[in-house]
Amino acid sequence: MSRVKNFLTELDDYELAYFTKFKLQTYMKDTQLEIKEYLVERNLNESKIDRLILENPKSKLNDDRKRCPRCYSDKIRKDKVEWTNTGGGIGIGDEVATWDGIGGRATYKNEIICNVCGYWLEDPNQEKPLPTSKKNIIRNLGFFIKRIKQVKTVSNNLFYS
Ligand SMILES: [Zn+2]
Repeated sequence: MSRVKNFLTELDDYELAYFTKFKLQTYMKDTQLEIKEYLVERNLNESKIDRLILENPKSKLNDDRKRCPRCYSDKIRKDKVEWTNTGGGIGIGDEVATWDGIGGRATYKNEIICNVCGYWLEDPNQEKPLPTSKKNIIRNLGFFIKRIKQVKTVSNNLFYS
């Protein structure tokens, strides 16, 4: 059994419906075919998928589990990532991270992605594959470079004064 199919067998019908709607298209053609065959096995067609998404009983669940706000699955993946998006925020925490970054100490944050529908719950580095967030990375990178220049100017002044 392939890895994708193995994963799909762990999903309930609702999760499988969200997976199909939001993630099917992100797979290679061959894998898409394999997934579609599996959907037939599970007796899921397009109209049933739409109905399952509308019905999703998990949206009414009120437990302590961390759930995806879109599909309400608790099958979410948390990765510790080196936080590169310094300079993007204005909070005190963000300022500290900026200075740590300059000092060569990495800051780690959680990147949290829904395994079922691919929704990004937390995206500290704004790596979410959307054209708008790419623009943010470029903007923040520019900001970061400006900050490094400022620091250099400060240390040069200290040196010569
Ligand atoms: Zn989800």
